Amino acid sequence: MVSNLFVAVPHGFCAGVSRAVRIVEDTLKEYGAPIYVRHEIVHNKHVVNEFQKRGVIFIEDFDEITDTTRPVILSAHGTEQCVLQKGNERGLKLIDATCPLVKKVHRQIQKLETVGANIIVIGKNTHPEIIGTIGQIDNHGQITIINSEQEAEGITLPDDKLVGVVTQTTLSVDKVQKIISILQRKFPALITANKNDICYATTHRQAAITELTKRCEALIIIGSKNSSNSKQLQQTAVHNGINKAWLIDDVSELPADELRGIENLGISAGASAPEYLVDNLIAKLKEDFANLKIHDIIVAEENIEFKS
Ligand code: SF4
Repeated sequence: MVSNLFVAVPHGFCAGVSRAVRIVEDTLKEYGAPIYVRHEIVHNKHVVNEFQKRGVIFIEDFDEITDTTRPVILSAHGTEQCVLQKGNERGLKLIDATCPLVKKVHRQIQKLETVGANIIVIGKNTHPEIIGTIGQIDNHGQITIINSEQEAEGITLPDDKLVGVVTQTTLSVDKVQKIISILQRKFPALITANKNDICYATTHRQAAITELTKRCEALIIIGSKNSSNSKQLQQTAVHNGINKAWLIDDVSELPADELRGIENLGISAGASAPEYLVDNLIAKLKEDFANLKIHDIIVAEENIEFKS
């Protein structure tokens, strides 16, 4: 029976997601429905479903647009230059909701291209953020995408060229640090903008999970299965020895039977999960466990806001 509920602070929406959601809200207000959004605006089932109900049409390709007079919002994950060009050539009204921290990575990869460096990209090659990032430069022959320490060890590149690295913003902080250390050993002059490009929100949310794992036998993370930062929270818990770490979309997926033997439970939410989902989960847990004590575990205060 759960007696203590430890709540990760911060959790939930980051500044980039808040900005992207606000851009969709503002566009709906200004233009009315329908409007288009290329790709899920952020990777969360509830956010996407709510917007669909209000007349937002999610597309993967501009060819799906039937009314080219309507605005088209580009998702927070970033968009390839060739896609922007295609949209502009078709005269679409494009509104870019790319997170400014993803844009920063775009500028880094462009700079690396300008100096003629071989570019190592750390991330998942099918994730839209990585597709958007490599889509900022023309010469894809310069790019090697890796996502593990083994792949970092296996890279061979010519000695006579500069080597630079950029990172997906939502990866595991620990894993990326290990990969970068390997790359720095192999390529001592490795060009990195910072230690890595993992954003403040990912870093804080993973640090909060680590604190929870010192106090809890099990963890629940609210987030969708296609959300990279949410999945990393679950994996951070597992890496810290918590085998019972569930990633759920909402309270309807609460693993109620599994909670019977748990005394100390932790909860968090990915950067794309709305706060009301966390509130609903806490309300249900309070209902199920009458003497539940709630403790906030605060690892950082976040005051960052990105203007639309
Ligand atoms: S997780 Fe980080 S990079 Fe992604 S939208 Fe949020 S602040 Fe931006």
